[in-house]
Amino acid sequence: MATNAIAVRTVVRDEAAAALSAAMLNRITARAPMAGEVGAPPFFANQRRRVVTVNVVRRRDPSQTATLRRRFERAVRRRFLSLIRRITAEVLELDGFALEPAGLAAIATNRKRFDFPRRDEKVAAFMRWLQAAQRQEILGIAEGVPLSTAAQSAWTRTYIETAYQRGIADAGAKLRAGGATVDPTWVSGAFNRPVHADRVGLIYTRAFEELAGITEAMDKAISKTLAQGLAEGRSPRDIARQLRDRVQKIGITRARTIARTEVIAAHADATLNAYAEAKVEGVELEAEWSTTGDAKVCPVCERLEGRVFSLRKARNMLPAHPNCRCAWRPKVVGGSGIVLNWRAISVPRALSTRNERRRSRPPRALSGAHAHRCSGRARGRGSP
Ligand SMILES: [Zn+2]
Ligand SMILES: [Zn+2]
Repeated sequence: MATNAIAVRTVVRDEAAAALSAAMLNRITARAPMAGEVGAPPFFANQRRRVVTVNVVRRRDPSQTATLRRRFERAVRRRFLSLIRRITAEVLELDGFALEPAGLAAIATNRKRFDFPRRDEKVAAFMRWLQAAQRQEILGIAEGVPLSTAAQSAWTRTYIETAYQRGIADAGAKLRAGGATVDPTWVSGAFNRPVHADRVGLIYTRAFEELAGITEAMDKAISKTLAQGLAEGRSPRDIARQLRDRVQKIGITRARTIARTEVIAAHADATLNAYAEAKVEGVELEAEWSTTGDAKVCPVCERLEGRVFSLRKARNMLPAHPNCRCAWRPKVVGGSGIVLNWRAISVPRALSTRNERRRSRPPRALSGAHAHRCSGRARGRGSP
């Protein structure tokens, strides 16, 4: 059971009221009261009277990044939607494949951008156009900038850096609460320290590469769908609809998962790196797994709620899976009188060695069947 659950026992006088409470509260477990307990019915009491033990679950967001995750998701979605608009315009309004009978789209057909004699040439021409449009709309890369260096200036970077900075601030606040004196500059100057600058760089590069990977996966599906649609002699309306469907099902869905998951990854990494710094300075601490504690936590994460790990073990455990929403709480076990001031810090760059880099992999199967939210399809709830 989640440690943040408050158990409340209420006496419910009839079934209707019980059902009402059940609908309103997250988790309900009904059990017969033990003899002598408050609410225990006298012998042969009214059968309808029963005791319901209710766990009122306090909803919380341990990483405090729900708003940031939503903003990132919305930004990613907006970009894919504008790609959809451009695809629709090319295929339908401008009749790029010249599929409409002459005269019907008289003004539009003068472009015939993808109107080549052979079908494979049409598909290839469309894919060239699509890739350029994707670079512009989804990745936001200027003409001529190679993909390998684009992460540096990518629009996604700010979301990851904000998440990481939140993690540092969060770690500072929690260490303070744990008794350490944390200088404000320890938080505000985090990116001046190589350990954090390096790590956040790794994460935003990875997030960007994942986004680029999604566009590639989407392209494969689009190219296949388009070739099929042309072969079957489908109308531009049909083709546009099918391509839109590919963008939505592959592009938007996977990209939103990446946005949500990478924010959590950046936050978790930031907190662990901050704890590691504090540890170098003499604060003895470990990392404690913290879930949102709501009904959407998956069974995997729920089992780990409150479990304490050494910082070394904790590394790369979070996010536990795509769409995980968990975070690390510091468990200060000693040396809480230490003053944390970043100028005094001498954290070796070794924290981001090649070995670290290798282990800094994205969570398994970001796009696969396991990409459930920490929510659990397991519980049959598909809510966001
Ligand atoms: Zn989780
Ligand atoms: Zn989970």
